[in-house]
Amino acid sequence: KCQANYTALTPLTFLLRAAACYANRTSVIHEGTRFTWSQTYDRCRRLASSLRALHVATNDVVSVLAPNIPAMYEMHFAVPMAGAVLNTINTRLDAKNIATILSHSEAKVFFVDYEFVPKARDALRLLMNNTNNNNSTNQQHNSLSLPLVIVIDDINSPTGIRLGELEYEQMIHHGNPNYVPETIQDEWSPIALNYTSGTTSEPKGVVYSHRGAYLSTLSLILGWEMGGEPVYLWTLPMFHCNGWTFTWGVAARGGTNVCLRTTLARDIYRNIELHSVTHMCCAPIVFNILLEAKASERREVKHTVEILTGGAPPPAPLLEQIELLGFHVTHAYGLTEATGPALVCEWQKNWNGLPMKEQAQLKARQGVSVVTMSGVDVMNLETMESVARDGRTMGEIVLKGSGIMMGYFKDAVATSRAFGNGWFRTGDVGVVHPDGYLEIKDRSKDVIISGGENISSVEVESILYRHPRVLEAAVVAMPHPRWGESPCAFVSLKKNHNNNLKNDVTEAEMIAYCRKNLPHFMVPKMVKFVEELPKTATGKIQKSELRVMAKAFVLP
Ligand code: ADP
Repeated sequence: KCQANYTALTPLTFLLRAAACYANRTSVIHEGTRFTWSQTYDRCRRLASSLRALHVATNDVVSVLAPNIPAMYEMHFAVPMAGAVLNTINTRLDAKNIATILSHSEAKVFFVDYEFVPKARDALRLLMNNTNNNNSTNQQHNSLSLPLVIVIDDINSPTGIRLGELEYEQMIHHGNPNYVPETIQDEWSPIALNYTSGTTSEPKGVVYSHRGAYLSTLSLILGWEMGGEPVYLWTLPMFHCNGWTFTWGVAARGGTNVCLRTTLARDIYRNIELHSVTHMCCAPIVFNILLEAKASERREVKHTVEILTGGAPPPAPLLEQIELLGFHVTHAYGLTEATGPALVCEWQKNWNGLPMKEQAQLKARQGVSVVTMSGVDVMNLETMESVARDGRTMGEIVLKGSGIMMGYFKDAVATSRAFGNGWFRTGDVGVVHPDGYLEIKDRSKDVIISGGENISSVEVESILYRHPRVLEAAVVAMPHPRWGESPCAFVSLKKNHNNNLKNDVTEAEMIAYCRKNLPHFMVPKMVKFVEELPKTATGKIQKSELRVMAKAFVLP
């Protein structure tokens, strides 16, 4: 061991290196704004020094509510450069959830983008009321529980109400350009705090270490084979696992970040063309946005754009269609607790010659571990034994490796529940194919148990997605007098040119279609057509809500 030579692993070194090696290369673009890596480094140092001047101390939490704008990107470096912990908040959460996060994380500073000022104001009011109530019951003075608010006044925003006394650009302007970033003494110290979306339970604060973030960043660059000088379009919110670590990753590659305030098809296509985008990440839902775009919003994709998709199962037919537009998709699986993607469907050369449909089916599988995962398995949790590699026997997916979180903030019980025998339990049910590739069949609570048989809702959905009229589909359990549970499908249909629902498909036809393509016990007993499926704050289909609806359905 050479202690004298020890340097902590931290993704902050990626920015230092980018500023040294690619000083004049474009780092960030947003509409009319453009920075180089040397400017980004300068801005981050200034911001970090201003945070220190505001008495932000080591390990304090700095929260931010902002879309994918340059400020959001800069804070991924500036906040830890001040020794603090970055807490990016999902902008789709409501004021109550935001107040809960601010309170639980004990945020010292709260950066708010202009667009979210009204929501932030409501959250702060709730926080103030809660603090006052607590104070009156506890008879204690607790004036420190409200964070200091700093507004990000994006250059393109119209003027309007302001929240708080301080403004982001002013903080940079008055910052110290010679600030020496806090030295990270211990690579296990926290860099980020990300609250889970709460699809499955109450939001929990997932803590990432500098070390975990550094290693995960490198492993994703490798897993996606992201080459030099990428032009990366920010379609994935940076608040999702720090943009699956590509906030730090684009700096490591000396690439260009193309920031995007919204994920409208028009803006995605326009930016791809304008900046010759090479890479983007997104949930499969964005495929629908791109495929369903009006002709006036579309642009021809003249060069290959690499997409890394995950967060929900991408239906094989969608993978096929999106690649016909000029995108090349890599499929990954992960979760907040694993610092984003933990598995990637690595492409095998010998799959190239297969028919497109078969290729899409192989790609729809979640794949093999990224290099920082030292272990990935599918286990029968009662026996703690690995399931057979037969592509049929289901078990729970468990993970171990340096990408796994340090634990849940201030929640030792949930942390110890999440780990068993050294493995992190994902709560996802999957199978292992004979070639070692994993495939998710469901979340444990979404599995439908019909007459003792496990039915994977994902499998039934993948057939529904093959129907030419289906835009989105979700399958949940409904009560069945004989089988206990049976599948019930909720489907939204594609619109026709007049923007009307193509309601020329009936429930009976849809059931008949499923009977042709699925074993009979897996066929939905009911198909409900809906205008739109309910979504969570992270844009995932909210099965819990559908389950409640399906519970009330009675079979004719
Ligand atoms: P939440 O658990 O609150 O939804 P996450 O954003 O961490 O928060 O979601 C992780 C979950 O998303 C996984 O446990 C899994 O169920 C699902 N998921 C992620 N990637 C994929 C994928 N490629 N295929 C299927 N499901 C996925």
